[in-house]
Amino acid sequence: MDQPADSAVTDLFVIGGGINGCGIARDAAGRGLSVTLAEMNDLASATSSAATKLFHGGLRYLEYFEFRLVREALVEREVLLSAMPHISWPMRFVLPYHKDMRFEANTPTSNLLSLVMPWMKGRRPAWLIRLGLFLYDHLGGRKILPPTSTVDLTTAPEGAPLKPHFTKAYEYSDCWVEDSRLVVLNAQDAVARGARVLTRTEMTGAVSENGLWRIETRNTETGEMQTHHARMLVNAGGPWVGDVLQTKVRLNSREGVRLVRGSHIVTRRLYDHDKCYFFQGTDGRIIFAIPYETDFTLIGTTDEDHEDPSVKPVCTEAEQDYLLSFANQYFERPVTRDDIVWTFSGVRPLHDDGSTSATAATRDYTLKVDTSAGAPMLNVFGGKITTYRRLAESALVKIAVQLGKAGEAWTEGAALPGGDFPVSGVADLITGLQRDYPFLTDFWAQRLVRAYGTQAAIILGDAASAADLGQDFGATLTEAEVAWLMTHEFARTAEDVIWRRTKLGLRLDADQVRALDEWMARCRRDAAAAAE
Ligand SMILES: Cc1cc2nc3c(=O)[nH]c(=O)nc-3n(C[C@H](O)[C@H](O)[C@H](O)COP(=O)(O)OP(=O)(O)OC[C@H]3O[C@@H](n4cnc5c(N)ncnc54)[C@H](O)[C@@H]3O)c2cc1C
Repeated sequence: MDQPADSAVTDLFVIGGGINGCGIARDAAGRGLSVTLAEMNDLASATSSAATKLFHGGLRYLEYFEFRLVREALVEREVLLSAMPHISWPMRFVLPYHKDMRFEANTPTSNLLSLVMPWMKGRRPAWLIRLGLFLYDHLGGRKILPPTSTVDLTTAPEGAPLKPHFTKAYEYSDCWVEDSRLVVLNAQDAVARGARVLTRTEMTGAVSENGLWRIETRNTETGEMQTHHARMLVNAGGPWVGDVLQTKVRLNSREGVRLVRGSHIVTRRLYDHDKCYFFQGTDGRIIFAIPYETDFTLIGTTDEDHEDPSVKPVCTEAEQDYLLSFANQYFERPVTRDDIVWTFSGVRPLHDDGSTSATAATRDYTLKVDTSAGAPMLNVFGGKITTYRRLAESALVKIAVQLGKAGEAWTEGAALPGGDFPVSGVADLITGLQRDYPFLTDFWAQRLVRAYGTQAAIILGDAASAADLGQDFGATLTEAEVAWLMTHEFARTAEDVIWRRTKLGLRLDADQVRALDEWMARCRRDAAAAAE
C-alpha cells in the first residue's frame, strides 16, 4: 500500500492502532489533517480483537442508568451496519426468563427496587426486563433492525438446546461485527485518505518543544529509532493510556484507567439455529452464547480486574470453569472442557469512575485534553467498539479547538473499504462472486464476501481456477489472499493473518501455520532486499 512520505510536521500523531486510534486517524485524514499513527504491535493486537464483537446498545447498561451511552450506541448500530454490511450483520438475541435472575448488588435500579419492593430480594422481575427492552426498542430510532418479540420456548427451535424449565424468552436485535477487520479497514481507509500508518512502531517518548511535539519511535522488528514532529498528540493507547501519559510523555496527570479483563471460550457448535442467547446469572452478571465462524459457539465474557497492561491477558482455568458453569445453567446437554477449542482474552481500558465492582465501572468514554506540557495532547479513556465513530467525531471537535482547524464531520454514511453495497446485498454478492469464479465453494465465497465485501473480486483478479491463486495454505487460504493482506492490510506474520485478518486459526493445523509463516517471512525478506 502506498503511504505518504514522512513530512516535517504533521497535524496529529496518534499513538495506538486499536479501533479508537484508527477511527480517529481515518476521520482526521478525511478532513484534510496530516496524520501519522504508530502501533507498537499489529493493528488490533490488543483489546480491539478481543471483544464480544457486538455493535450493541448494551441492554444491561440501562440498569446503571447509562442512558446517554445506550442511546448513542443504539443509534450508531444501524449507521455502522450500513457502512460495513460485509463485516457486520443483524443478530437476534434470545433472553430466556426465569424468576431467580438477580441484579448485581448496588446498581441504581436494584437500589431503587429494593427500596420500593424489598420483598423481591434483588430479583430481576419480568416486567422490568420488558421495560428495558421497550426502552431498547425505542431509544435509538431503529429503522433496519426488527423489534423485540416473545418466544414460546416449549415449541420454538430456540428452546430445543435449553433445559425444559425455560419456557419463555424475549428476543431482541443487535449486530455482530468482525472487530479486528473493522480496525484494519479503518486503517486502510485512513491511508487512502492520506494518513501514514506505522505498525510494529512503538512510541517511546515525546517532549513538547516550542509548541510542537518531538516524538521518538522504535521499530520493534529492526530496532530502528525515528523522530517525528506533530502539532498535537492523540493518546489512544487503550490499556496503555496511563503508561503513555505518565511514563512515555511524563505528564503529571491524575486521570486513571481501570483495567478489567474479559475472557471468552470458543466451543464446538452447541446448537443448530443462528440466534444468540443472552443468559442472566444468579450473580447479577450476564453472558452471551453466539454462533461463531459457522462451526463453533462463542461464550463470554467475564469481568476481572487486571492490574498490569504488560501482563498478557489469558482466559484462566477459573474463568473457563465460570463460563462453563454459567452456560450449563441453561444448556440441556452439558458443555465441558473437552468442547473448548480456543479461548481469548482482552483488557477493557475503562475510565476510572471509582466504581466498587469491575462489572459496574462505566463503559462510556471520556476525552481529556492536556496542555500542561505546552503542545496539546488528547487522551482517550474507555469507549466501546460500537461508539468508535462517534468517539472519533467528538475527538475531532476537541482537536479543532487546539489546532484551529479540522473540516466537517463526514464519516456518517461513508462506507468502509469493501462495504459499498446495500445491507441486504450480501447474498447477491456471494452469488455474483461464484458466477464469476465458479471454482469457489460456498464456504470460500461466503468467507471472502464476509471479509472483503466488494474487494473480494480484486483479490481474485483474473483467476480462472484455484491453482491461479498460488499456494494453498489450507482452509481456502491462498497465496493471492495472503499477498493482499500483506500489501493492503498491514499483515506481517501468520498470527496476524490467522487470528486477526481472518479466523482461520480455528481450521489450520500447526504444519499449515508454519508453512504460512515461512512463506510470509520470505516475502518480507524479498521486500526488504528490494527496498535497499
Ligand atoms: C472482553 C471484552 C468484550 C468487549 N465487547 C465489546 C462489544 O461486544 N462491543 C463493543 O462495542 N465493545 C466491546 N468491548 C470494548 C472494546 O473492545 C474496547 O473499548 C475497544 O476495543 C478499545 O479500543 P482502543 O483502541 O481504545 O484500545 P486497543 O484496541 O487496546 O488499542 C490500543 C493500542 O495501542 C497500542 N499502544 C499502546 N501503547 C503504545 C505505544 N507506546 N506505542 C505504540 N502503540 C501503543 C497497543 O498495542 C494497542 O494495540 C469489549 C472489550 C472487552 C475487553
